[in-house]
Amino acid sequence: MLEPTDLTARAISELRTRFGTEAAVTGRAPGRVNLIGEHTDYNAGLVLPVALPHATYAAAAPRTDGVIRITSAQEPEPFTGHVDELGPEIEGWAAYVAGVLWTLREAGLVSGGLDMHLESSVPLGAGLSSSASVECATAVAALGAAGRTLDADLQRAIVDAGIRAETEVADAPTGGMDQSVAVFAEAGGALLIDFDSGEHHSVPLALGERTILVTDTRVKHQLTDGGYASRRAQCEKAAADLGLSSLREADLEQVETLGDEVVRRRARHIVTETARVEPTVTALGEGDWASISELFAASHASMRDDFEISVVELDLAVSTAVEAGADGARMTGGGFGGSIVSILPSEAVETVTAAIDRAFAEAGHNPPGHLIATPSAGASYTAC
Ligand code: ADP
Ligand code: MG
Repeated sequence: MLEPTDLTARAISELRTRFGTEAAVTGRAPGRVNLIGEHTDYNAGLVLPVALPHATYAAAAPRTDGVIRITSAQEPEPFTGHVDELGPEIEGWAAYVAGVLWTLREAGLVSGGLDMHLESSVPLGAGLSSSASVECATAVAALGAAGRTLDADLQRAIVDAGIRAETEVADAPTGGMDQSVAVFAEAGGALLIDFDSGEHHSVPLALGERTILVTDTRVKHQLTDGGYASRRAQCEKAAADLGLSSLREADLEQVETLGDEVVRRRARHIVTETARVEPTVTALGEGDWASISELFAASHASMRDDFEISVVELDLAVSTAVEAGADGARMTGGGFGGSIVSILPSEAVETVTAAIDRAFAEAGHNPPGHLIATPSAGASYTAC
């Protein structure tokens, strides 16, 4: 089980060791697991993510000479630059980190240099949004170091800066769910986000004796590979062919009139998946696990068959979890690898994780990783 260790102290001591600098501020921003509503964010739809207790931690100290130095325990190469020379051409992992400093500077929110060190307990590339987690941890720490107060306007600005870093610098055309939950999540709840109205609110989860389990198949997805971008383009084509501004406005009857068979299936996933989100909110609020079972099964089938973003490891983890006693299980995140999410009686966690481990070993897959997704709070910073 991958534990959600608090890495604040380690970030502070590594900043000292690597740069000889005392931290002025520490920031934390969580990874996330999406309970339902996959690929619906860029279709003006609904999503329902939960912030993980696993997070990225940043320790930072401001500099007066404009120099920016950033290291990460998760990446061997440090980033060095100057605040006035940041731009969209930043490469590698620094695209997410220095990229967000650039977009914050563009927004007029930071102007100085800094030393920063990052530690993370979010597995990278597992579909649990280590990317938004590292963007938002960087942003809160940099804004804290710049003396800014984390109010609602600043939270909104962090989300926007993270989205711009991810889409314009890292070239991953993701939709905004990850940064929103990394910033706005409330402990104990899930965040219902409506990408049509832009509104979001925390919804209660009547988990009781139930646990949200995440299983990382360890199949590395790569959002910059093109699968994600092609799904996005197919959704845009479907909306355009129907004369709609987004698939949020489409119904199933309209979707079935689409001439291109592939585009039709992509659109069908978006329409049916969006329709599953509100019933899931209701079921989670009432502890209605029979409904969760059906909704998760339908969601997974739709991603596997209509949207075609699943892989054999995800399908195996989902079917094994359900056979071993989970109420419901589905792949989560962008797809093409990454993780599944299951909801199960807390007493069944060991049985279910052992069953998945065994199934993976028998099929010759790499051992999966498991973590418990206790619903956690969004990004914050603390002055040292
Ligand atoms: P996911 O967000 O699902 O984990 P992505 O491919 O979107 O996967 O983002 C993973 C990338 O984000 C990593 O390859 C790395 O470039 C960057 N990243 C995430 N966390 C960190 C970190 N703690 N330190 C440095 N880079 C990170
Ligand atoms: Mg990501």
